[in-house]
Amino acid sequence: MTRDEIIHLLSIDEAAALFGEADRVRRLHVGDAVHLRGLIEFSNACGRDCTYCGLRRSNGNVQRYRMSTDEIFDAAKAADGLGYKSLVLQSGENCQYPIKDMCALLRRIKGEMDIAITLSMGEKTREEYALLKQAGADRYLLRFETSSEELFAQLKPDSSFKERFQCLTWLREVGFQVGSGIMVGLPGQTVEMIADDILILEKLDLDMIGIGPFIANPETPLKNAVSGTLDLTLKVLAILRIMTKNAHIPATTAMGSIEKGGRERALKCGANVLMPNVTPTKYREHYQLYPNKICIKDQPGDCSLCIAGMVRSLGRTIATDAGHSLKVNI
Ligand code: SF4
Repeated sequence: MTRDEIIHLLSIDEAAALFGEADRVRRLHVGDAVHLRGLIEFSNACGRDCTYCGLRRSNGNVQRYRMSTDEIFDAAKAADGLGYKSLVLQSGENCQYPIKDMCALLRRIKGEMDIAITLSMGEKTREEYALLKQAGADRYLLRFETSSEELFAQLKPDSSFKERFQCLTWLREVGFQVGSGIMVGLPGQTVEMIADDILILEKLDLDMIGIGPFIANPETPLKNAVSGTLDLTLKVLAILRIMTKNAHIPATTAMGSIEKGGRERALKCGANVLMPNVTPTKYREHYQLYPNKICIKDQPGDCSLCIAGMVRSLGRTIATDAGHSLKVNI
């Protein structure tokens, strides 16, 4: 698709044909099975100050937590017990777990469970990424949020646009399956910028792509900004499915939080992954990048039942494999 074609599709009012085509491409290239990635939000500590995020270091109203590696291991064991074939370990950036402790944890999990591991811990050095890969992590998620350097500087004032993309290159070089993504509906973001984001996501030839709507958080400098919409976010998802064909694309929690039924709609226009939360319930309410996040009172087993019901109600099946990348280079 050209930039102009993408801009046109992002601007149309009636997107049923776009969504139908994305669903067809999804069925053809990734099938009906939905991959479940058990999500463990192991620390909400963060050294960054992103203007949209509730976990930003300047937010003094967050009760910070850091799960011990034993607690993370136990949560992984619970996910394994629920039948998940894949885990996502997510935290804020620079949350100060020594790399050697993370590597020991990864080896312990991989030594005892047949489960794929995705990390989402932000920017690190090339050497640290290599150590995490060698310790057994399979995948790494690092969203760049926007390809507009100017908007990026406003949203992530203490991050570097160039370093973010450098990290994505390093992740690929050390052998990770790589995921990235954007936020849709950011203040100051235009459809032209989103079209550029989509073209860059396509060019990066990613194994996984995560898209979420911007949701204004009252604990942040962007508290008075207008939130994004599910409709525009789904158009971005559908276009990416059509363009990338076999990337793994989740129906994100943010889609389900901004609108009831958001994840179900995402699964019907290109998504093929869900991320049930397996974070211990006592920590969940403290991990809120945006307000009104769903499932924060649930137990891991509740999320498992809810997600299984959602998948079945859509006539889809739950994947029985780890859901590794479908790209030929892996
Ligand atoms: S978006 Fe990530 S890096 Fe930025 S403040 Fe939130 S948790 Fe930290």
